[in-house]
Amino acid sequence: MLIVVSGPGGVGKGTIAEILVEKHANLWLSKSWTTRPQREGEEEESYVFVTHEEFKKAIDEDVFLEWAEFHNNFYGTPWPNPPEDFDVLLEIDVQGAKAVTERGLDFLMIFVDAPTLEDQAERLRGRGDSEKEIERRIREGERERNDARDLGAIVVVNDDLDRAVSEISSIIMSNRSGE
Ligand code: ADP
Ligand code: 5GP
Repeated sequence: MLIVVSGPGGVGKGTIAEILVEKHANLWLSKSWTTRPQREGEEEESYVFVTHEEFKKAIDEDVFLEWAEFHNNFYGTPWPNPPEDFDVLLEIDVQGAKAVTERGLDFLMIFVDAPTLEDQAERLRGRGDSEKEIERRIREGERERNDARDLGAIVVVNDDLDRAVSEISSIIMSNRSGE
């Protein structure tokens, strides 16, 4: 099964994805490539950090299942290569989810959102994003919410982290048994 976790910047989807792979032994988290510089305090393992040239070369070599440009940087998901019987988890933006649909792949889409725009802004601020960046991510969230609805995403509000993770775990398990 392919699972896509998406949502506006700062709602906590990266945090949730990491907890999900710790909780579920047979869930494999895809590591994306990005041309974005590593943030201060961000783990080295969060992404494969590459130059624009390296990213363009990888596009030409068909390394990616999908890729998208986001805030002047490129992000891409390499073709997944999980161990046998593992479900694949992608934490990507809504444009990326659309591109996966265009590849003809079926997936479970979960759209994580913050309880309010103020909470989203506060989380971005807490992570060290600039005010300009926060404004942009909030603005883009509106479009992402509409696109996610069109893609049939299941919306999960990340109010309390443990509760949101439990809700997503239940959704994953019920979709697994329904396969
Ligand atoms: P995203 O991947 O959606 O951009 P992150 O996972 O980087 O977001 O989370 C943004 C910030 O919000 C981080 O500092 C994270 O610790 C915090 N955060 C995540 N979930 C919650 C929550 N339920 N309540 C409060 N803060 C949260
Ligand atoms: P950030 O810079 O905050 O880590 O990520 C910015 C946005 O890019 C987020 O919405 C995140 O989900 C998305 N993203 C991360 N990896 C990928 C990817 O491989 N493909 C796509 N399309 N989006 C990604």
